[in-house]
Formats: sequence, structure tokens, C-alpha cells
Amino acid sequence: MVIKTKKSSPKKRKTAPARGKQAKITKAKTPADKSNFSNFEPYKLKKGEKYLNESQEKHLKKILVDWRKTLMEEVDKTVNYLQDEASNFPDPADRAAQEEEFSIELRTRDRERKLIRKIDDTLEKLEQGDYGYCDSCGIEIGLRRLEARPTAEKCVDCKSLDEIRERQLGS
Ligand SMILES: [Zn+2]
Repeated sequence: MVIKTKKSSPKKRKTAPARGKQAKITKAKTPADKSNFSNFEPYKLKKGEKYLNESQEKHLKKILVDWRKTLMEEVDKTVNYLQDEASNFPDPADRAAQEEEFSIELRTRDRERKLIRKIDDTLEKLEQGDYGYCDSCGIEIGLRRLEARPTAEKCVDCKSLDEIRERQLGS
């Protein structure tokens, strides 16, 4: 297996980065797993603001749409990556390593595709005004939870209960 090292930039700046401009983050070559979502600008709540008013909905919709876009790009990248790396290794150990790597990539892609479908469903719910309330108990899921998990269908309490039940059934 060929291991590619990341090229490091020869130039090193001592001065602080210019204000207003954000430093670009260089991405690793291997497609990253983006199923854990964390890239968003927190919503600035005004006093007495109504839950899921128009601007909050707009904010959450943007998070969902941006996330979807990132996932789509990841899926494309994975496809390209698999095509680029697909080569025949004469050594069975190398071949096995590559197959293992590919199956991880495919699983990641599968997860990303499922997430994209889930995001589509969520956007649909948002469109129909059927978003942001717990599927089990009906209470507000909460803006902060929705920001961190925009596809959440349950409140923290119901989700925790589900997880406890799953653990009990699973063991
Ligand atoms: Zn609930």
C-alpha cells in the first residue's frame, strides 16, 4: 500500500493573519467522515423570541442545506478516490489492505447517503411546519439541540430513554 504524506507548506508566516480573512484549512486526501456534524454559526437569540420563528427556521434550513451539500461533495470525493486508487497489487497482503480500505470507504459512503435522505426528509418536515417537536412526547426539541443535530426527531430525554432501552434489549 502506498502511503501518501501531506505536503507541508514551505512558507511560514510569522505575522498574524489578516483580519476578516479566515485561514484556509487544508483537507486530508482521504474522504473524511462527515456524519458527525459540527460546522455551524450559533444562532443569536433575541430576548423573548418565539421558538422556531421565521428567522430560526431559516437558520436551521441553512444548516441542513449546507450539510447536505458537504455530504454530497464527500460522496463524490469517495467515488473519485476509489477510482483513483483502484489498481492491482500483485502482493496479496497489499490487496487485502486495499480491499479493507475500500470497504470502509463504501460503508462511509453508505452512511452519508442515508444521512442525505434523512436531511431531505427533515427539509420536507420543515417545509410543512412539522419540525422541531419531539416525535414521542411532543415538546420542543430546542434550538440548540437542533443546531447541533438538525435531523433530531426526539427531545434529549426521549432520546436518552430510547438509548437505555436499546442497551437493555441489545445485551
Ligand atoms: Zn420527548
